[in-house]
Amino acid sequence: MEDEYEINVDLDLANEDAVTIFINYRVFDYEGRFIGTIGVGLSVQAVQSLIEEYQQRYNRRIYFADRTGNITLRGMQFPAGISKMSQVPGLAEISRQILAQESGAFSFESEGQTYHVNTRFIEEFGWYLLVDQPEGPALQVTFMVLLVNLGICVAVIVFVLIMTRSSVRSYQDEIEKLATTDKLTGVYNRRAFDILIQEALVGVERTGEPLSALMLDFDHFKIINDSYGHLAGDLVLQNTVRVMSDRIRASDVLCRWGGEEFLVLLKRCALDDAFRMAEVLRNAVAASVTYFEGKELRVTVSLGVAQYRPGDTADSLVMRADTALYRAKAQGRDHSEREAYSRRVWEETAGARGRV
Ligand code: GH3
Ligand code: MG
Ligand code: MG
Repeated sequence: MEDEYEINVDLDLANEDAVTIFINYRVFDYEGRFIGTIGVGLSVQAVQSLIEEYQQRYNRRIYFADRTGNITLRGMQFPAGISKMSQVPGLAEISRQILAQESGAFSFESEGQTYHVNTRFIEEFGWYLLVDQPEGPALQVTFMVLLVNLGICVAVIVFVLIMTRSSVRSYQDEIEKLATTDKLTGVYNRRAFDILIQEALVGVERTGEPLSALMLDFDHFKIINDSYGHLAGDLVLQNTVRVMSDRIRASDVLCRWGGEEFLVLLKRCALDDAFRMAEVLRNAVAASVTYFEGKELRVTVSLGVAQYRPGDTADSLVMRADTALYRAKAQGRDHSEREAYSRRVWEETAGARGRV
């Protein structure tokens, strides 16, 4: 599998006529290492209905064949028991020719009847689309036959491609979400945060707007697990994260830093405002209740607050928030602490940020 994704077609043996298209993706981690393949199955009922409709409306046979000439998808009118192009009367002689070129218009004879067939290779599937029609008395104008057949070819291809593309896209979105969010709480994971903080730092250096970070840790969380079990702990984390998400702005970034530690990035927010936000979150958590097996579970959190300084990296900013958190814990928990970085320091460094 060399492409980003691979499409396989499978005739569902348990359900004879149900054809499934499998789209298999190669999944890579953030360092570009291949971590596996993930697939989705699509029923192609819709394509089959389209084929039936065209067959009836234009009196043509429409079918798909793979590179080796196996018929992969066909309408109901197609004779039963035929699974290869070489088994289609008259087509056997020209099947090699058909499979040797991207598209073409051919004729073949079968039981004294002349058939016109138009073919086209669809790269995404690795399939040929074939449309054939017997030449009748009313159909002497071969050029018109060719045009109508080509029209059908194009319509079917466009339909199939649109269908595939839209499912591929929604699948890609899903993978992206899985790769950037924490499974338990649904907030950003550490990888996503690494990218988002870099973007935020670039923004701050360009605009000079303040940026702050809150490091948050649940207090004595081990006791929750020890007393009520890990499942209860998980539920508390989920519920509490929801409470906090409701309080921050859409532009703020809430991330699960690891275990029961979370980090909030507050954009356009200086230390004092960030400290106020820390208190809002702390109070909201303390007032919240998680119900578990008829019991009311309550938790508290401690927070450390730091503001970006010129020259800061993601690590140095987070480290200062962490140091402040350590002091908050030492203060007895259910507490917020801000780094020793006053408005005066912020104003003094204004020049270094390119602003006066
Ligand atoms: P402190 O106030 O000093 O932070 O005390 P603490 O008990 O919270 O700190 P400690 O680091 O000793 O324990 C953290 C606990 O959080 C232990 C760990 O099992 C639990 N924890 C971390 N992640 C999860 C999780 O995803 N689910 C559950 N249920 N528990 C978790
Ligand atoms: Mg803790
Ligand atoms: Mg911890």
